[in-house]
Amino acid sequence: MKIWLDGELVDESKAKISVFDHGLLYGDGVFEGLRFYGRRIFRLEEHVRRLFDSAKAILLDLPWSAEEVCRFTCETVRANGLKDGYIRLVVTRGSGELGLNPYLCPKPSMFIIASTIKLYPEEKYREGMALATCATRRPAPAALMPQVKSLNYLNNIMAKVEAIQSGALEGIMLNEQGYVAECTGDNLFVIRDGKMTTPPVSDGALDGITRQVILELAPKVGIECVEKSVTRYDIFTADEVFLTGSAAEVIPASSLDRRIIGSGKMGPWTEKFIEAFRELTRTTGTAVD
Ligand code: PMP
Repeated sequence: MKIWLDGELVDESKAKISVFDHGLLYGDGVFEGLRFYGRRIFRLEEHVRRLFDSAKAILLDLPWSAEEVCRFTCETVRANGLKDGYIRLVVTRGSGELGLNPYLCPKPSMFIIASTIKLYPEEKYREGMALATCATRRPAPAALMPQVKSLNYLNNIMAKVEAIQSGALEGIMLNEQGYVAECTGDNLFVIRDGKMTTPPVSDGALDGITRQVILELAPKVGIECVEKSVTRYDIFTADEVFLTGSAAEVIPASSLDRRIIGSGKMGPWTEKFIEAFRELTRTTGTAVD
């Protein structure tokens, strides 16, 4: 596998980062995860834009333009010859002193991996996934801005561990007020009586690109979607719930904390969204060659 690392496509065995890199020492960096379908990268510009926004928010100056990052990403996919797959774009503060001070890191590092990913078993995309509420909360916006896709994922990892230990595949993360923010690696949509809601970013959700795609698709699918606070009770009593993410795509949820959601199977609205999403990913995107 060829990895793009600081301007060069190198062999996987040569793609090395310093042990003094602040991305590793402190989680000081930002990243993106995106997919490509049939050698077309889905929503590449949006992901790169979010990467630059995240970098700006943490005062990390990138020495490349957005167009260059898009081009490097295409080059990485091309170099690996995969038709379908998943891309991880990572920018770290770079190598510096052992102390926290990011100003002592002279230049950021970027690497791009074009590989594959499989988050959940195939049958869960038809049957739905069991969810559990995690004790670990989303950090308050005043602690870590929820829009920033930073390398600081320890909360989410702890929450994922709790979900797995409760026998679920994915976990719901609440914000400090107890409202549902999102899942550990996906956004969430709730449908009841033909109306759809999703937690607003101000409740601690990442402004997911797939979430945005679902909001765009909603009028075409024929359902109204509002961004408003969601509680666990709303999920218990929903007709349908589904999760969205670049890696997860669109996947139904079958239960939360052992309360069956709706019929406990994929509902008709979810099925429509999965079809519409599939169609969009198969017919749009930035061609890599
Ligand atoms: N929330 C979190 C915490 C995530 O890490 C992700 C991405 N894996 C998402 C939501 C979904 O965002 P996107 O649709 O942009 O991949």
